[in-house]
Amino acid sequence: MTHIPEDHPRYASLITRERIVEGVQMGITSQQGLVAQGRGEAFDYLIGERTIGSAAIAERVAVAYLLTAQRPIISVNGNTAALVPGALVSLSDVTGAQLEVNLFHRSDARMHRIIEHLKAHGAGKVLGSKGDARLDLSHDRGIVDQEGIYAADVVLVPLEDGDRCQKLVEMGKIVIAIDLNPLSRTSLSATVTIADNVTRALENMIQFTKEMKKDSKKQLQAIIDSYDNRRVLADAMYAIQEHLKNQAGREGIEWI
Ligand code: ATP
Repeated sequence: MTHIPEDHPRYASLITRERIVEGVQMGITSQQGLVAQGRGEAFDYLIGERTIGSAAIAERVAVAYLLTAQRPIISVNGNTAALVPGALVSLSDVTGAQLEVNLFHRSDARMHRIIEHLKAHGAGKVLGSKGDARLDLSHDRGIVDQEGIYAADVVLVPLEDGDRCQKLVEMGKIVIAIDLNPLSRTSLSATVTIADNVTRALENMIQFTKEMKKDSKKQLQAIIDSYDNRRVLADAMYAIQEHLKNQAGREGIEWI
């Protein structure tokens, strides 16, 4: 990894970039994953590289869904495996949601490498290699495990593509997306959209789960019932606008 000094103003962002590059070198992340990361970085820059209030609300609602689910699953792709393997395993441990690897650019070798990578970070059973069920999609993200995503009632999909998100929603599942772009097809179609960097979102969710685990089912349901995803999307768009306005103001650029 390239040495990044901790006092570098873009330290967190550059470390994330290094981790993705390392993921590609290890054969975990696809080269296309670099492009997806670039788009995420751009939106993170626009939102101010922080967890905005409405994203924290969405993260709490996501946790409430995971804790009340019968068969919760955390879907793992090549980017998340490279960026946050330890956090994925911790979130799975605290919520009881199983991990399932699901790839757009699927190969047996990559599946195996990602599963082993998660195991090296403490995962027990990791689903995804059976691929014995199919979502009605023309690409490989449609290949899923029968006992995993196919049968799940709640699916957390950090960094998803729009078609699969829509398909999972159509199948009647609760879909929780983590996506910094509030305008992506994924963000617009998910049940809960967390417009936050996956690196911050998962850490927050682990913390929230520890706090909310003692809540009753009724309390968790009340959190779910009060949620409005459209408002959360609108707030993310507003936060981007306000962040840009403030930035312009600081630089003496008139906002027109
Ligand atoms: P869609 O099909 O939903 O419209 P897309 O084609 O814009 O998605 P993909 O390339 O499938 O995007 O997935 C990348 C998405 O993940 C982008 O919306 C990007 O903003 C988001 N993203 C990338 N890196 C991160 C990250 N570290 N944290 C959160 N979101 C991220």
